[in-house]
Amino acid sequence: MTTLNNFSKLHEITEQAIDWAFLNGLTMVKARSEDDIKNNITNIQHLPFSLLPSKMPKILYQQALHLAKDFNMLVHNLSRDFNFIQNTLKNVQDEFTQNLLNIHRIVTAEGIKQNVSLGIFRSDYMIHQPNDIDTPLLYQVELNTISSSFGSLSSKVFELHKYLIEYNQLEEYDLKSHPENKSLDLIVHHLARAFDFYTNGSSRSTTNNTKVIMMIVQKCERNIFDQKWIQLKLLNDHRIKLIRKTLREVYDNAKLTESGQLIIDGQEVVISYYRAGYTPNDYYGKEEWDARLLIEKSKSIKCPTIAHHLVGAKKIQQAIANDSLLEKYIKDPEALKRMKASFTGLYSLSKEDIDIEVVKKAIENPHLYVMKPQREGGGNNIYNGKVAESLRTMTRDELSSYILMDKIVSKPYKANIIKDRELIEIDALYELGIFGLFISEGDEIRYNEEGGVLLRTKNSSSDEGGVAAGFAVVDSFVLF
Ligand code: ADP
Ligand code: MG
Ligand code: MG
Repeated sequence: MTTLNNFSKLHEITEQAIDWAFLNGLTMVKARSEDDIKNNITNIQHLPFSLLPSKMPKILYQQALHLAKDFNMLVHNLSRDFNFIQNTLKNVQDEFTQNLLNIHRIVTAEGIKQNVSLGIFRSDYMIHQPNDIDTPLLYQVELNTISSSFGSLSSKVFELHKYLIEYNQLEEYDLKSHPENKSLDLIVHHLARAFDFYTNGSSRSTTNNTKVIMMIVQKCERNIFDQKWIQLKLLNDHRIKLIRKTLREVYDNAKLTESGQLIIDGQEVVISYYRAGYTPNDYYGKEEWDARLLIEKSKSIKCPTIAHHLVGAKKIQQAIANDSLLEKYIKDPEALKRMKASFTGLYSLSKEDIDIEVVKKAIENPHLYVMKPQREGGGNNIYNGKVAESLRTMTRDELSSYILMDKIVSKPYKANIIKDRELIEIDALYELGIFGLFISEGDEIRYNEEGGVLLRTKNSSSDEGGVAAGFAVVDSFVLF
């Protein structure tokens, strides 16, 4: 047995971990410099990860797991309510959201050609435990309904930590309390099940393969290995081919047949799986929006549908935190109780129902709040002094694009992280994501399951949390 209070041991384990990472595709594309771009050079680095697991209260973990099915149901029920989506988002003064709403109106008016909806969601939580509170509380940060990422690399970090603990016989960590995390297998299996809905299980072969899953990707994606693991496993385990295309490539090369089949490069797209399209940066012009509309009009199974995508808006999260609204969409009293307990304060800044009293409080105590626009992917929120300034100086129209949220305050702990081969000790806090897997056919629910986890750990002094955005590292946990 070894203990970790030894500096050289930590460095030895760091080297083992970095080797394991490269050996197992726990990697990312490195941000490219001007010179790299000019010379067309791509470098690979290991994923930023924590050296060993963090500690998680078992009761909060179980609470988060339970919520996965509840939030899947909520997304489903909201997505069936056209008017609610349109009305709730109509005042979001933001071209991106308005373009999505427009597509939602067009395809609803034309009649949806594919009644199977495929969800790979991720509900994210933080633990609220400011100094004056003894019992930690689990609060939802947000619910992602599009491009929920890191399912593959998260599984790998759980494996990495297990390996390091076993190999070094680290007595501080009890592997019986280190859960398995099968998010990669579960997501891939889920995609394969959705594929079978389209083909009735008949077309899983690689020779003469004309039916594929199309992953819609960014041109300069850095997190490609998270995606490549899905591609590899779909073929290995399920004999399904996945192709990767940008929205621009869809615009240039894809066509609809008369019956609505989506054809690209002579292949029929069974599932359109978005790992791009969640940010305005992915739409360079009208071409990308036309591609999005083309896909949405097609018979391919969308992950997510435009309705699922819109339901993930932060404005919807804020609106639904209102008791009576939530009760309209969730009938199970136990689920209602669980969900309500996971909501922290969420307040409207929309011109029709702006919460003036809370705005006054937030101007006086800006560090207790976060202001969030209708954006995804990290790096967009407003914190601290800027909250007061923005609330004072923005017009009512500008404010309508934001929501206000109570800040979740976690208790920091010491953690060792590895970034770019360097071992760094930080004051850490984490964000727990639970994947939600869902398939419905019209009103009927076919699959509603939890799909593994993602733990992201970051420096407690950093307000933001994304891994791809450079703020957080991927972690695993032992339960206590
Ligand atoms: P995005 O869709 O861009 O990921 P999030 O709502 O997840 O938007 O916000 C980004 C990050 O900001 C989160 O990962 C978290 O670290 C931090 N954050 C968001 N909301 C809160 C909150 N209410 N309290 C504390 N931190 C928050
Ligand atoms: Mg998000
Ligand atoms: Mg987030």
